[in-house]
Amino acid sequence: MQQSKTVAFHTLGCKLNYSETSTLSRTLEASGFVKKDFEEQADVYVINTCSVTENADKECRMLVRRIQRRAPQSFVVITGCYAQLKPEEIANIEGVDLVLGAAEKFNIAQHLQDLTKGDSARICSCDIEDVSGFNSSYSHADRTRTFLKVQDGCDYNCSFCTIPLARGHSRSDTIDRVLIKVKEIAAQGVKEIVLTGINLGDFGKGNDGGKQRDENFYDLIQELDQIEGIERYRISSIEPNLLSEEMIRFVAQSKKIMPHFHIPLQSGSNKILGLMRRRYQRELYTERVAMIKEQMPHCAIGVDVIVGFPGESKEDFQETFEFLHELDVSYFHVFTYSERDNTPAFDMKPVVPIHERQERNKILRNLSHQKLQYFTQQHLGATRSVLFETVDKNGIMEGYTDNYIKVQTPYRSEWVNKIIDWELR
Ligand code: SF4
Repeated sequence: MQQSKTVAFHTLGCKLNYSETSTLSRTLEASGFVKKDFEEQADVYVINTCSVTENADKECRMLVRRIQRRAPQSFVVITGCYAQLKPEEIANIEGVDLVLGAAEKFNIAQHLQDLTKGDSARICSCDIEDVSGFNSSYSHADRTRTFLKVQDGCDYNCSFCTIPLARGHSRSDTIDRVLIKVKEIAAQGVKEIVLTGINLGDFGKGNDGGKQRDENFYDLIQELDQIEGIERYRISSIEPNLLSEEMIRFVAQSKKIMPHFHIPLQSGSNKILGLMRRRYQRELYTERVAMIKEQMPHCAIGVDVIVGFPGESKEDFQETFEFLHELDVSYFHVFTYSERDNTPAFDMKPVVPIHERQERNKILRNLSHQKLQYFTQQHLGATRSVLFETVDKNGIMEGYTDNYIKVQTPYRSEWVNKIIDWELR
């Protein structure tokens, strides 16, 4: 009897990539592969790359080298955003056998029917303009929470971003198909779904068998709210200009959509927002935050911010700092700007020196830390619902409140995947 081939995965980057790796893994398992841990011996290794990761090239080389040491005869596949952006560069890495671009990623099972190693890597990639299909994906972070991809690609053209080049136009699943997936996930006992996409608020774009779609993100969350079995939804991230007042009102009265938003800001200076080609100014952001807090004073709000964008003077940065300082938000994700080929920002001047970028990053991370402490302290003594997770971290279990405050307590197996009213202390 022929032995099953084995496959191991490694994912770089965002939640969307993780959900896609999970789907690639299920696809290969369905076609007879046995999944292994990345640190184990396997016949095939798949690395799902990211274009945002700094030094994606270096990281990829390092991983391939590790694979070669462990399993020199194995077949190495590189896919994901970086594979779409720089297929030739990746094909030249010694030890790579196959590069799969955005259109071919989900046909991985067909590509792995023949595992013969050639003299050079095979590239299966097309122009991103020709990538139009939508492939649904979901992952389990553990069995309590799942990341469900409902949208892909982006039609915005922020001047620093390579995602539209790596993932193509905005397109999404249909509501009907999302509901089928959600029921499938609910049947596995999952309690919480994180709705994931590149530009989630743009949900509804794409065409359904040639018919133009007439659905949007607000329609989606209203439908999801009615599904039995799933008790919590989180919206992974939404652009401020796409977060409408009706959505905020709906979330405020919903028992299932958690009071937690993550809203990219990127800069608190209108000058920089303009250079970044963002589709709003800081005043709109302030309005959205005020609207959320008015309806849900307990709501967690996370903010993405980039420091060191070209042209960001000390005064512009100070403006961002003061803006964030005053804003009633809970935490930030701070990114240090780094140049990306083929983006308009690449040629913008004056460039902010690296040490200055790092310094600004540190300042905002400190501020974020203070914000999170303040937000948590505001809720001490309050009782909120916590979903406890599966992982046993040296006798400790963790969970998150509805409004995303992390809770830790001694591990109790009977609490795993249970939602419990919890007094915050
Ligand atoms: S909204 Fe801007 S930053 Fe976000 S994916 Fe689209 S182009 Fe990139």
